Amino acid sequence: MCGIVGYVGREECTQILVDSLRRLEYRGYDSAGIAVFEEDKIKTVKAKGKINDGLVKKLKETEHLFATAGIGHTRWATHGEPSDINSHPIGNGRVSIVHNGIIENYRELKSFLISKGYGFESETDTETVAKLLDYYYDGNPLEAISKAMNDIEGAYALGIIFREHRNKIFAIRKESPLIVGKKDGESFIASDVTAILEYTHDYYLLEHNAIAILDENGIKFCDVRGDEIQKELQTATWDASAAQKGGYKHFMLKEIHEQPTAIRNTVSPRVKDGLPDFSECGLTEEKIKSYRNIYIVGCGSAMHAGLVGKALIERLARMPVSVDIASEFRYCEPLVTKDDLVVIISQSGETADTLAALKLSKRLGADTFAIVNVVGSSIAREADMVMYTNAGPEISVCSTKAYAVQVAFMYLFAFEIAFARGKLDETRCRELTEKLLEIPDAIKKCIENEAAYQFVASKIMNADSLLYIGRGLDYSLSMEGSLKLKEISYIHSEAYAAGELKHGTISLVTKDTPVIAIATQSALFEKTASNVKEVKSRGAKVIMICAEGTEVDSSSVDYKVELPAVDELLMPLTTVVPLQMIAYYTAVLRGNDVDMPRNLAKSVTVE
Ligand code: GLU
Repeated sequence: MCGIVGYVGREECTQILVDSLRRLEYRGYDSAGIAVFEEDKIKTVKAKGKINDGLVKKLKETEHLFATAGIGHTRWATHGEPSDINSHPIGNGRVSIVHNGIIENYRELKSFLISKGYGFESETDTETVAKLLDYYYDGNPLEAISKAMNDIEGAYALGIIFREHRNKIFAIRKESPLIVGKKDGESFIASDVTAILEYTHDYYLLEHNAIAILDENGIKFCDVRGDEIQKELQTATWDASAAQKGGYKHFMLKEIHEQPTAIRNTVSPRVKDGLPDFSECGLTEEKIKSYRNIYIVGCGSAMHAGLVGKALIERLARMPVSVDIASEFRYCEPLVTKDDLVVIISQSGETADTLAALKLSKRLGADTFAIVNVVGSSIAREADMVMYTNAGPEISVCSTKAYAVQVAFMYLFAFEIAFARGKLDETRCRELTEKLLEIPDAIKKCIENEAAYQFVASKIMNADSLLYIGRGLDYSLSMEGSLKLKEISYIHSEAYAAGELKHGTISLVTKDTPVIAIATQSALFEKTASNVKEVKSRGAKVIMICAEGTEVDSSSVDYKVELPAVDELLMPLTTVVPLQMIAYYTAVLRGNDVDMPRNLAKSVTVE
């Protein structure tokens, strides 16, 4: 969601800013712009629409001098429609800013600034910050920034330039992400490190209450009083090619193919001598034994990974687990206490609602454990314990490999909890861990079954609506499958517990309504098969996803998608592949923008 970039150095910066913005396109946006220092002025070019359609066209029409410093932005509108005027950078010629986030008290600030004689051009909340900085500015930018930070409420990452401070960028953040990149003679700001990997792997994390100052001499950090702060340089381990398509038509397809490696990278380092080992993050056996309840909190696919986790932990460790949607959890006065463990799942580690849920859990005294992909992200830093899923950058908005590694991690986590609490004996724990280590090979086999997924996609691509049904673990997977399809194909679908259909939803089934039935668990197979018969009797076109060798009644199933036979408990890790692939090929057949689906953004940093 929204991208911020900035550059100070020796090179002509327009292209660098545009290229860096392109690498943040995956986050989702509706307009783009840049502001650069040109002689003694700030020159701003911005436009509604995609970078190539809007910004790049306008840049070509604009006379351009030489600039070596500037800021750039891709906007995901929250206040005011996507338009040229509402695009960032926003300012008045004296100060210009790019902003990610929401200024919650913008109305109050706006009234105050109007009373001081300021006029407003855009409908954005952001303009209040630009004008507030201008109001406080009397030659000292740090003072103006500190005073403004004191007044603004909400979430923000800001890149700020002042006309009188040529080739200098100031950056601050609260909750929204922002990092500061360092190279010899050049410095950068960016919403995430993938934007600048092409230029450098070295970066600093920026904390709330710190101000970064980038100029030709390098990077300095100071606190709101102006006292210098020393910061540790971080090095990104992701290489630049990890954030490129590498021959695949879409990032989504590439990321589906990366799942076996991603799972291996996530699971293997946490297995020692054949058993799960969580000592790296401080989750000790004593702690595990002491927890009364586990709460798992996330949004979207991360929450769905949590549902698999709940089923596994409850089944193996026999302790109560609840799964909550972060945006609900934070406002439902959760019953969390100091005796509980709250597991927070987020790919980006910046998801605003999930971060708020984490902070709330800490205030309630619980231990917090984060499962996060992006190293050094806000959630990773805030949580008491953190485990990184080593999936590499996920660029496609529609999450695939990040979900897969979260689920894989949930297995290891469930094994560890069950083992530590004496509910899983060592032999079975070793056996399950070994099987988990072998699962990447089965996933690879699933991915190769491409023709089957293309076939199913061709059968559902013209549907108005469809159902995903399953029981137990298969129901959790149905939810993920339905979400994938909706996100990128724009076909309405609903996931339903197969046994619950009769209580209302079966009325939606008419002739040729596609129903994707997931039936990978032998104990529940006959039950789901009966539900399949019920929908078939009402005219449904049934696609069944099941383990190879499963005997299926061909009078009630139109197409069968088979998965390699692995331990049933581990089936969710293979089942997700056809679900992802069917969604992918359906979106491709419908001609949709697979990696950047309409209205959606990656890394949802607003509430
Ligand atoms: N709230 C700001 C706006 O609507 C910033 C949105 C963003 O994060 O892109 O302009």
